[in-house]
Amino acid sequence: MQAALQLAQQAAVQDEVPVGAVVVYNNEIIGCGANRCISDHDPTAHAEIVAMRAAAQHRGNYRLTDCDLYVTLEPCMMCAGAMVHARIRRLVIGAPDPKTGVAGSVVNYFQAPFLNHWVAIEAGVMAKQSSRLLKHFFQTRR
Ligand SMILES: [Zn+2]
Repeated sequence: MQAALQLAQQAAVQDEVPVGAVVVYNNEIIGCGANRCISDHDPTAHAEIVAMRAAAQHRGNYRLTDCDLYVTLEPCMMCAGAMVHARIRRLVIGAPDPKTGVAGSVVNYFQAPFLNHWVAIEAGVMAKQSSRLLKHFFQTRR
């Protein structure tokens, strides 16, 4: 989560919403991501998607079986869907997102009965640091 936080900080420097994510396999980071929507002109370039793309390239497989994803902010619906497609084993979340978070805040997508893959979820890891970063970012923009 420390690495994900550093990525989030880098995103803030680029004027992107500071969210960072890493994919870990066998205790090794195989994919890093930070929000890049603005710089890439890409609505799907959330930190989690960027990290999963990198990890899938690294493994040469779109399935990230036995991989864990760490993200500083509770994921949105798009990212949650991609995590299930990628067969992420465990999702570790920093701060909750009361507006668009689908790991329990708005809805719990990961418990939807139609899913064919279950992602284990651990929330609240370094939540204070993650939300402080976001709060500071939005405060300085107002
Ligand atoms: Zn997302």
